[in-house]
Amino acid sequence: MEVLYDKIFFMKYADIIIDISHERLDKTFEYIVPDELENSVVEGVQVVIPFGQGNRAITGYVVGLHDKPEFDVTKLKPIARVVKDSIAIESQLISLAAFLKRNYGSTMNQALKTVIPIKRKENEKLKKEISLNIPIEQAKIELNELLTKKNHAVGKERLLRELLEVDVIDWELATKRLQVHSANIRDLEKKGIVRVDSVRTYRNPHMTEAAERKNIVLNEEQEFAAEKIKADIDTGRRKTYLIHGVTGSGKTEVYMGVMEHVIASGQQVIVLIPEIALTYQTVMRFYTRFGDKVSILNSRMSPGERFDQFERAKSGEISIMVGPRSALFTPFPNLGLIIIDEEHEPSYKSEVIPRYHARETAVYRAKLAGATVVLGSATPSIEAYSRAQSGEYDLITLHNRAQGQDMATCEIVDLRAELQSGNRSMISRRLKELMADRLEKKQQIMLFLNRRGLMGFVSCRACGHVLKCPHCDVSLHLHKNGVMKCHYCGYTTQATKTCPSCGSKYIGSFKAGTQRLEEIVKEAFPQARVLRMDADTTKGKDGHEEILSAFAAQEADVLIGTQMIVKGHDFANVTLVGIIAADISLNESDYHSGERTFQLLTQAVGRAGRGKEAGVAVIQTYQPENYAVVSAAAQDYDSFYSQEYAYRNLLSYPPCSHILGIQVSSENQRDAIAQADILADLIRKTDSKVVIMGPEDAYIGKLKDVYRRIIYVKDDDYNRLVNIKDAIDRFLLEQKQYRSTSTWFDFDPINTL
Ligand code: ADP
Ligand code: ZN
Ligand code: ZN
Repeated sequence: MEVLYDKIFFMKYADIIIDISHERLDKTFEYIVPDELENSVVEGVQVVIPFGQGNRAITGYVVGLHDKPEFDVTKLKPIARVVKDSIAIESQLISLAAFLKRNYGSTMNQALKTVIPIKRKENEKLKKEISLNIPIEQAKIELNELLTKKNHAVGKERLLRELLEVDVIDWELATKRLQVHSANIRDLEKKGIVRVDSVRTYRNPHMTEAAERKNIVLNEEQEFAAEKIKADIDTGRRKTYLIHGVTGSGKTEVYMGVMEHVIASGQQVIVLIPEIALTYQTVMRFYTRFGDKVSILNSRMSPGERFDQFERAKSGEISIMVGPRSALFTPFPNLGLIIIDEEHEPSYKSEVIPRYHARETAVYRAKLAGATVVLGSATPSIEAYSRAQSGEYDLITLHNRAQGQDMATCEIVDLRAELQSGNRSMISRRLKELMADRLEKKQQIMLFLNRRGLMGFVSCRACGHVLKCPHCDVSLHLHKNGVMKCHYCGYTTQATKTCPSCGSKYIGSFKAGTQRLEEIVKEAFPQARVLRMDADTTKGKDGHEEILSAFAAQEADVLIGTQMIVKGHDFANVTLVGIIAADISLNESDYHSGERTFQLLTQAVGRAGRGKEAGVAVIQTYQPENYAVVSAAAQDYDSFYSQEYAYRNLLSYPPCSHILGIQVSSENQRDAIAQADILADLIRKTDSKVVIMGPEDAYIGKLKDVYRRIIYVKDDDYNRLVNIKDAIDRFLLEQKQYRSTSTWFDFDPINTL
């Protein structure tokens, strides 16, 4: 009796999923893990199980393990065996899901849904687009021929006229607004005059465009970088590389050189780029080089469209997937290379559970697939650079711009001194002088404003003091009715007339809006043609593209914008970049603010002087001595890195340590507080060595009537934090109290929680 009881007690049970492409991923079957398989059955492995009445042997994946059976033990069957060396793409993705669950915290189900796209619902319609299938000149002839016919279909005429004006027309738009009969469209399609595509966001370009490929020969530095990586690949070394290349050094050309090599050997490539950089310009570079082998993912796609893209990848129809974070889960059967461009971008960290980081996840996926990882940035994240310093990544540096152009020279303007001398404009005298000069020379200017400054925080122009919310440690914002408000907690107070810090009366809202800036530029330079790019002017689907291509075609002299304009665009005629208020992001409260400021400034400075003429950047700031500003102006990454690293080290922030953020939320404030206290106790009991901060209210303590408490746990050892997460998960599973609360985890959070 005794023995049998023990046996059942120590037995392990596995949840097994059989068809992972099935829409309802939560359907699992429970099996017994036999003693002899105890060590080899782990989450993510492929196993053979007897299934159904006839005990047919089928394969499944282990997605969960536990000590207590959920079903009647006497009815459970044991796992037959573990599938040896299963390298099927599915098993890789399942392991990847297990990795996400373990390292970032989530249920296996949530993790699976992150890596496996949901099948298209039967009734989901594909969006269709119509475009010309013949050159424009020929289309004009077709239209004229049509017009000479008596009783010609006016629908066809309307469609052709429209297509002479725009590249593509929505099927919906054509049939509804232009009232073109679908039979007419199909007829034109049959005659080869138009083509109808089921939209996958970016259509493959027409051949004429593909022919325009620039013939680029890699320069010495680029060649060295590409050859090094290729040589490692050929000799079977699989590594992670960090390419630190100054802005305009031609990193993309290096990526493409390596990509070509990998594809030639029959393997596939994933290229991650930040959503914001997913512009026509970038995408066209990949298309012109690799043609139909490329597919693009973006976040506007429906789950069904993503599913289709993934099917194409699985079937071998394409060999390159370009997209944001989630493209990492493209089910390529023989993945050889993962590239992460602008590796430092915060958008590579997911903000939904599991809150994974694409960089670490890519390295893990590459390990499973035997693939190489290439990270690139002009301003590497402190995390990645420290790994390169320690030898975990291979560092490759591109010191020079691709065609040997000089880096822009940089000038810092102290806005406090500017004010003392009586200039209260957003544009300093020096910047104005340079603008006049560039307009005279018919060169172009970009003026950059940090988006976060849009709302106008309240600060003192004499001493730089920023008014903050007493509850949230965020800056207050001035509202029309003369009150200052906290955008996070709603705290409201009367606007002050004098600075609480120095008594000066020059306190007010820094109305750093792009619109305001546009007015000022137009007043100062009435003859200048000004384009503005911000959330207002880019509402339409192609709003970005229109503005950027107009500026590229030199239809404007000045481009004003938020950080959207600093990412990855190449304007050869820009010789002046003005950064209107460099310190806005320094006023943020989290430990990344120095890094973000440095990155933004460096990227902005890097926009200047990409062509033949040398560039100048003017950084206007209230904190000219701040290390992030100083090293960005000097374009000295190493100096910034060493100061930032020292600061992180001193305060034990990542990458010098790891942080686990635990959020407990509830509509009932007392429950949230009590539950967070219970979890903090549990952490203390689980591991007495880790540092615990809190519980305290989250950065946004209450959001939509839900109270949020945060606990931060710090330790050098990531695994200890994982153990704490697991202990909490186990506890929550058993806990009967405080059902109103929910808990989630964030490892090494990117933003203050
Ligand atoms: P990064 O990504 O490092 O900012 P890009 O790859 O976008 O740089 O290159 C910047 C510009 O320089 C692009 O217009 C690119 O076509 C051009 N370029 C890159 N490498 C070369 C080269 N070896 N010869 C000529 N032009 C190049
Ligand atoms: Zn002051
Ligand atoms: Zn507040």
